[in-house]
Amino acid sequence: MRKTLLVANWKMNLNVSQASLLLHRLQERTRIHRSIEVVLAPTMLALQPLSLQIDRRKFRLAAQNAYYKDEGAFTGEVSFSMLRDLVHYSLVGHSERRAHFHEDLPMVRDKVQAAVRNGIVPILCVGETHQERKEGFTKRVLHDQLTTALANLTAREVAEIVIAYEPVWAIGVGDPAKPAQIQEAISYVRYQVAHLYGEKVAREVRILYGASVEPEFVAGILSLDGVDGLLVGGASLNPYKFADIIEAAHRLQVSIGDES
Ligand code: PEP
Repeated sequence: MRKTLLVANWKMNLNVSQASLLLHRLQERTRIHRSIEVVLAPTMLALQPLSLQIDRRKFRLAAQNAYYKDEGAFTGEVSFSMLRDLVHYSLVGHSERRAHFHEDLPMVRDKVQAAVRNGIVPILCVGETHQERKEGFTKRVLHDQLTTALANLTAREVAEIVIAYEPVWAIGVGDPAKPAQIQEAISYVRYQVAHLYGEKVAREVRILYGASVEPEFVAGILSLDGVDGLLVGGASLNPYKFADIIEAAHRLQVSIGDES
């Protein structure tokens, strides 16, 4: 049974005291659900203070990014090895990093590998742009992003990572992709993992949907076959909304008798 995973991507928002306040509010509003794992990805600067404040029964921490070399003359960068005792997870290859910071396929591959090497679970973000979808290239883009990013991992390692399907055109617009589009893309991602690493790995790997998730969309998206969780941007900055997202995921589990 793959546990439901909800990831909050706070992006470049909230300074350390604001992040601490949001964590405080979330901790007040959320209950512990053993069948749901909730992960917070604040700004890098807030990871250390939040690690002292966090209720580990409720939340885990993730980095939003890190560099693939472990140390050296890379001014301004932070490595996965520096984060290894601080975070369980790290986003890798978010579309904003690919677009604004020119992270290409080999760079994303190296970051995935560096995360795994340092005992951090990568949350590999994949997804097509509006233009790519319009031109009918969605599957080709997903194929290329997946085959490159996973290339240096063993089957066992792939089984333990997380993949987030994030259609770039639906991020931050308030309107998620349609259920059929999400289903098709996520099934394709799992099919590709099966093709590359076998059915067992494909059954184990967790695949999330992300882009414009709001509380009212949670049940519809999480009840799609093979969707193991959500990556939430904008709505995760609001403690009421993010707590509602967690509760909506829990209610769905209770309603289908999946709670453990
Ligand atoms: C994201 O960029 O990871 C994301 C999911 O953003 P939003 O929820 O704001 O669309």
